[in-house]
Amino acid sequence: MSAPAPAGGRGARPGAVLTGVGVGTGTAVGTAVVLAPPARPPADEPAPADALAAGAAVRAAFAAVASTLRERARSAGTAAAQVLQAIALMAEDPGLLAEAERRLDAGDGPATAVHEAVETFCAVLVAAGPHLAERAGDLRDVGERVVAHLLGLPPPGLPPLDGPSVLVAGDLAPADTAVLDPARVVGVVTERGGPTSHTAVIAAQLGIPCVVRAEGALGLPAGARLAVDARTGTVTCDPPDDLVADLAARSAARRRLVRGAGGPGRTADGLPVALLANVGTLEEAERAAAARGAEEVEGVGLLRTEVLFLDRALAPALEEQADAYARVLTAFGGRPVVVRTLDAGADKPLAFAPTGEQGNLALGLRGLRTARRHPQLLTTQLQALAAAAARTRTRPSVMAPMVSTPAEAADFAARARAAGLAEAGAGIGAVVEVPAAALRAQALLAAGLDFLSIGTNDLAQYAMAADRLAGGLADLLDPWQPALLQLVALTGAAGAAAGRPVGVCGEAAREPLLALVLVGLGATSLSMAPAAVPAVRAALARTTAATCRAMAAAALAADSPQRARTAAAGLADPQVLAL
Ligand code: PEP
Ligand code: MG
Repeated sequence: MSAPAPAGGRGARPGAVLTGVGVGTGTAVGTAVVLAPPARPPADEPAPADALAAGAAVRAAFAAVASTLRERARSAGTAAAQVLQAIALMAEDPGLLAEAERRLDAGDGPATAVHEAVETFCAVLVAAGPHLAERAGDLRDVGERVVAHLLGLPPPGLPPLDGPSVLVAGDLAPADTAVLDPARVVGVVTERGGPTSHTAVIAAQLGIPCVVRAEGALGLPAGARLAVDARTGTVTCDPPDDLVADLAARSAARRRLVRGAGGPGRTADGLPVALLANVGTLEEAERAAAARGAEEVEGVGLLRTEVLFLDRALAPALEEQADAYARVLTAFGGRPVVVRTLDAGADKPLAFAPTGEQGNLALGLRGLRTARRHPQLLTTQLQALAAAAARTRTRPSVMAPMVSTPAEAADFAARARAAGLAEAGAGIGAVVEVPAAALRAQALLAAGLDFLSIGTNDLAQYAMAADRLAGGLADLLDPWQPALLQLVALTGAAGAAAGRPVGVCGEAAREPLLALVLVGLGATSLSMAPAAVPAVRAALARTTAATCRAMAAAALAADSPQRARTAAAGLADPQVLAL
């Protein structure tokens, strides 16, 4: 392979290599599509010198946006076309234009006038009730497009994609990531974010190789060919042919190793370790349920219900929730499904569950704690799940995020029972993602829980006091940190002592070598982005339970994440290292 050019910066040159933090081990080659940030009017935009000309420019900008949206609607699928047509109509709304012109007359600059007019109308929509409130987001999108047009900037949001594309952005909101089409977006590169930020998690979920924290990414030229290597965390602009061939050979080797290795997860000597899917949308759930062969999963270990409702202005009603859960339960038939109650707050704010002014979102009201302020949300959700279980005659499990004390565990279990979930035969559990929960795992189980599931993403964040969104602290957030492994070991031991299952549902479970260590630390199931299941199954099939335990002991005894990984790797079958 030819020597890489020096790392990029603004305006990265062909051949430049940017380094960030890779998510997963996948590779991708595609065309750079740079996501423009939303256009905002300049803070000090002057009043127009020629009001008539400014009025004409504003009218022309609205018309141009409407026409672009209609054009996109013509080439979109039916459902998307309807949405785009409806948004185009908003850009032609005479009332909106009149309000913008009124503001121009009052002395606002053109972009400011449009922005303020849109905000006025959004306030009216929100005040008009649930249905119209949902349209405020669409109207803002129109406003940002018109403002971008006036300022001569590229339109915000994802442009139409012609072929395999690598999406490049400063950062992506979870709501934007969730709607990416993996058939077109083959890679994601962001300047900000962290390896366990929810955006990265959702990208992994979609099976999209991702490099976050790639400094200088926004300087990558749109339209350039990019090679993304999540294992090394590198992004190469206009890659040489030998690198492209190398990446292709690697994914082919990996595919060979995992081919045909279907069936339930078990170690080489037969210890069952259920391989489950982490899912966040109904489409993902249905795709995971339908997968067969190496891709097959044994159930759902984590349904992130907040992802289902990220874009909602108002809380979804019981019936709507019940329908959504029933769809997942039906898709999985009799297979186990673990539904996590809303994990709102921190980097997954839900408009319908406001947490108020908080200095530090990650340490404030989030997860189960939001029920302190919005108890009815939790009650409705539990009742909706009980209704879905009854309707589908299945027995889903339910778990609460961010449980910190046995009292919280007992309270959650009582609420789940009161909602009728115990009668439905559902298991009731908690996500262990606060160190206090790991330290007191035995007490949590004794408080009335049937199982625990370790969320290594947040557990790492809270154990190391390192914001999971702060990619600059990725070394502390490394899931091989022996301190994190020790908390997993404590939880695993508590489960074994109580005879109750302890799964892992954090991103750590999808790294094949680490998955073996987690099993050695006592994990009885592993839940991950479905795309990661084949490699983890293959790793388990080549390793005995005793080797998993030996690897766990070696990793625990290490004094750094690097040494922990090396120690475990030294005991692994060489083929596992190629996965
Ligand atoms: C975790 O924290 O590990 C977890 C599974 O939950 P989330 O990533 O959704 O916070
Ligand atoms: Mg979490």
